[in-house]
Amino acid sequence: MPIRTATLPCGEAVPVLGQGTWRMGENRARFADEVAALRLGLDLGVTLIDTAEMYGDGGSERVVGEAVAGRRDGAFIVSKVLPYNASRAGTIAACERSLKNLGTDRIDLYLLHWIGSVPLAETVDAFEALKKAGKIRHWGVSNFDTDDMEELTALPQGGGCQTDQVLYNLTRRGPEFDLLPWCGRRGMPIMAYSPVEQGMLADNAALAAVAGRHDASAAQVALAWTMRQDGVIAIPKASRPDHVRQNAAALDIALTAEDLSQLDRAFAPPRAKVPLEML
Ligand code: NAP
Repeated sequence: MPIRTATLPCGEAVPVLGQGTWRMGENRARFADEVAALRLGLDLGVTLIDTAEMYGDGGSERVVGEAVAGRRDGAFIVSKVLPYNASRAGTIAACERSLKNLGTDRIDLYLLHWIGSVPLAETVDAFEALKKAGKIRHWGVSNFDTDDMEELTALPQGGGCQTDQVLYNLTRRGPEFDLLPWCGRRGMPIMAYSPVEQGMLADNAALAAVAGRHDASAAQVALAWTMRQDGVIAIPKASRPDHVRQNAAALDIALTAEDLSQLDRAFAPPRAKVPLEML
């Protein structure tokens, strides 16, 4: 069953719910369960999977590779290059390593994990070369605040950026003040990472109160809230099958005006610029 989508600046539609994989691929004993969790998500239509060369030193990419084996065309894979590998040659070498870990011939969306000391123009040049070679289909960034996005998009090839993946959830509402509107004006969806605040929102009393009205869990309401607006893609990580199922079902929760104002009282929206936080 296809799920709701967001449209990238290039015009391609991607699901508004994806699967995170940080902390996967770190322990051989959990490999099969992690693969099974991702496959369950794929079966439920959650076809966007987020990984990075950093996670488990390539281990997370190997879990993803196994999960999409035999069904690669039904998945949209996001991976990331570390800033200290992000020189022109370094980015290309990192991408080759990631492709090998993933067991695929292309990454759908390749991100710079955060800003480092390599000039952005150099990384963007490598991204464009990888695109021309068919090794990546699109590129974007992560942990870029509004001023970083201004700097990026002022570059000659900066207009190719398709997303900014940032920390965004009910306890981290700073991006609503400036970054979300900035991306919205350019038709660029953001990807909200740690949408359940690494599991901590699953025990939140204010969320539980709203969840009670929807026969849902607090974590599901946290996800429904993150995906309530156009232009936000949430990428929770779930290794337990019940969490995978719950997260997919969160797409069906329609929060009411009363729910939203109750959540605004518990988690105040920003009234001034908050520098972008990262984990
Ligand atoms: P998260 O998705 O907010 O939380 C993950 C934790 O929440 C796990 O312990 C998971 O448990 C639990 N959980 C998931 N669904 C649940 C549910 N329905 N009910 C109760 N608990 C639930 O945190 P995250 O892993 O930090 O962020 C998500 C993804 O974003 C990462 O995996 C990664 O792909 C990406 N990320 C990117 C950056 C970046 O710098 N770009 C930084 C951080 C994260 P189980 O695993 O036991 O199911």
